Amino acid sequence: MTPQTAAAPNDLRPVLERAAEGGRITPGEALELYRRAPLHALGAAADAARRRRYAGTEHIATYIIERNINYTNVCVTACRFCAFYAPPSSDRGWTRDLDDILRRCAETVALGGTQIMFQGGHHPDFGVEYYERHFSAIKEAFPELVIHSLGASEVEHMARISGVSAEEAIRRLHAAGLDSFAGAGAELLPERPRKAIAPLKESGERWLEIMETAHRLGVESTSTMLMGTGETNAERIEHLRMLRDVQDRTGGFRAFIPYTYQPENNHLRGRTQTTLFEYLRLIAVARLFLDNVAHIQGSWLTTGKEAGQLSLHYGADDLGSVMLEENVVSSAGARHRSNRLELLHLIRTAGRVPAQRSTTYEHLVVHDDPAEDPVDDHVVSHLSSTAIDGGTAHPELTIVP
Ligand code: SF4
Repeated sequence: MTPQTAAAPNDLRPVLERAAEGGRITPGEALELYRRAPLHALGAAADAARRRRYAGTEHIATYIIERNINYTNVCVTACRFCAFYAPPSSDRGWTRDLDDILRRCAETVALGGTQIMFQGGHHPDFGVEYYERHFSAIKEAFPELVIHSLGASEVEHMARISGVSAEEAIRRLHAAGLDSFAGAGAELLPERPRKAIAPLKESGERWLEIMETAHRLGVESTSTMLMGTGETNAERIEHLRMLRDVQDRTGGFRAFIPYTYQPENNHLRGRTQTTLFEYLRLIAVARLFLDNVAHIQGSWLTTGKEAGQLSLHYGADDLGSVMLEENVVSSAGARHRSNRLELLHLIRTAGRVPAQRSTTYEHLVVHDDPAEDPVDDHVVSHLSSTAIDGGTAHPELTIVP
């Protein structure tokens, strides 16, 4: 028995110890840990599992410089938690043209960004051809930029518009330049909570089927989870189980990224939300339960910077992106902004050495020496929501003056 697990109830102690040592736990055991394990014991077991997995580099926590490029807010899917979309009939709808998108890519490269996340609504006119045109233009102009974008929901939508199978859509996207899927649209995979918040989206099973097809075709992805829209603890663990089962077959999920529902400007009207403790418990249980997923990302953008720091002690090994541009969760009230220097400081004062990573988690720069930290005031989050001071819902967001 370790000092940490001593505080756990008798029946949970062996489960925590097995999981900390890399052993597999069942969904039922994960649910009991999530419900009843003392917070610190849970965090210590998850941290032990992280250190075991990253033995030799366990002192490092990673971040990436990336830009979300929101190409349109027009969407036919009307998710109840979403504050970003405009229905096709609305005069609030906008679509960026290719020149604007390429300008944003150029700024990303100028600021040392390595990845873009193309993210937008389910536009009624955008089939596979739209994405082929844009991805090939981006790759031609900026071959060094990784296109880590979209997810099964967009694939399902664009395949329907173009009258092709999801498999063909994935093949064509990949051929046009898509490097990996960001795993958008997972929200909550179990049927009841998914129908409650995104009734027009494909089912959770279908979402997984499409991601499995992508993995089989050599297009890896990250995976996500939206917490705090009224789902039960059991449904949260069921979401993890559904991901783990696919991962056992494909190994294609590089990371798991839970983030929290933001309560403003959407149809759910903030009825439910996630507390910091629930979030940290989920990060820790994810590290223990998802023994086949390499990376667990803490989300400072939706949970706050201190929560991001804490997550590094509850099993997370990555703090995600500086987020040069973000317009989706900020529209729903996420007010946290950061910049590269602050992210380095957050990671360091959490007791880790920061490292800038690539999309595939290679360490590009390890910031061993604070005296050599990069100084560039432009590598900073820009959120364009009207919900935040200085925010704008309009696309004329300037990053490089
Ligand atoms: S979450 Fe995505 S699919 Fe759902 S309404 Fe918003 S933009 Fe549309």
